[in-house]
Amino acid sequence: AQERYASIRDLPAETKCGSVISLQMNAGLMADLPSLDGSGAEGVGLFRTELQFLIRNQMPRRGELSALYSRVIKAAHGKRIAFRTLDIGSDKVLPYMKRNDEPNPAMGWRAIRVGLDKPGVLRMQLQALLRAADGGPLAVMFPFITQLDEFRSAKAEMDKALERETKLGHKLPEKLEVGAMLETPSLAFAPDAFFEEVDFISIGGNDLKQFFFAADRENERVRKRYDTLDVSFLSLLEQIVQRCGAHDTPVSFCGEDAGRPVEALCFAALGLRTLSMRPASVGPVKHLLRRVSLDEVKEVMDESIANGDQSVRRAVADWLVYQV
Ligand code: PEP
Ligand code: MG
Repeated sequence: AQERYASIRDLPAETKCGSVISLQMNAGLMADLPSLDGSGAEGVGLFRTELQFLIRNQMPRRGELSALYSRVIKAAHGKRIAFRTLDIGSDKVLPYMKRNDEPNPAMGWRAIRVGLDKPGVLRMQLQALLRAADGGPLAVMFPFITQLDEFRSAKAEMDKALERETKLGHKLPEKLEVGAMLETPSLAFAPDAFFEEVDFISIGGNDLKQFFFAADRENERVRKRYDTLDVSFLSLLEQIVQRCGAHDTPVSFCGEDAGRPVEALCFAALGLRTLSMRPASVGPVKHLLRRVSLDEVKEVMDESIANGDQSVRRAVADWLVYQV
């Protein structure tokens, strides 16, 4: 599939109306990195660090982790990588960590909740990332932040890690961005201070959608009832984009939906300028974006909403047939 889009690989995802959308890729293993050049992605919008923990049978040591992150950073040849700290719990269980039997693991003790309650692994990870950056730029984001105070506590861990590194005489990143994943509706309604204090926001649409519709993302039966292009979900996304815009906070969307063509168009039409997706989706999404005008997409969406449609999908898909 990548060969098919090779001719546009080095061209920007610029729409007919002149908007430039940054297309990035999701990754989680060293083996994903070659796709960065192959797909034409501008960076790694989401690096899921838990995958490297999941494929082992014991807890990695800090030295191993920093060597690994260092290889990942080098393989990106200067392109930005947003490292997401460990998101375990929920569906991702580490064989070497004490298992917690919870009735609702996706809403249970997972991700940053574990990181803040038992900070040992989070601290090790932050230190490993700082070492791996070796004075270069670094972007780190925390998964499953649900409120301002959680972000502040997580950021405080980063501040402590920076202090420790300074004391030890290690180099600090020339530029450090500390962001949050927005994966629960609560965070969209956080105080303005959250949007001020965070360096960037990445919308984790997979989780955000499951909590917005109260529909388990692993449960086909209920998951398929709800459309990402449902008018109520789009309204939530639009609000997030507006709040980020009001505070000049960079925002991206990194859930699986970013790589689906109609979704990608609608997200861009709502104002999202960075989308992170599977490498194989970068070419097709770029191809499509280069052929449309976002004001027209927005017009079609608005008309569909005014008509009282539950989802704008049908209207946008029908319109698209005549565009490409
Ligand atoms: C998400 O929730 O959309 C996301 C990108 O994170 P994950 O799929 O790893 O939960
Ligand atoms: Mg998630």
